[in-house]
Amino acid sequence: MTAFELRHFYARPLWLCTTCEELWPCPEAQRLLLAEFDGKRLHLRLLMGMYYSDALNDLTDYMTERAQYQALNKRFFGWLSQPQIPLKNSKP
Ligand SMILES: [Zn+2]
Repeated sequence: MTAFELRHFYARPLWLCTTCEELWPCPEAQRLLLAEFDGKRLHLRLLMGMYYSDALNDLTDYMTERAQYQALNKRFFGWLSQPQIPLKNSKP
């Protein structure tokens, strides 16, 4: 089991982080995912696409404005292009 599976995972239906209770993927979940999919960014993008689809199904009842859909898209995909962020406890 990876560190990502143990911590900073989503809780449905609101898609909040199970550890820090921020909107998922929280910054730490993003760091863990980027580390876990190092060199396999396309796989990460596909995985986030599946999560995004599930989140859309769960959150549609709570979203009434176009801006909310845009924010959800940015939340799931906006961070994928950033360079990898080192884990807090990782050694150089
Ligand atoms: Zn978190």
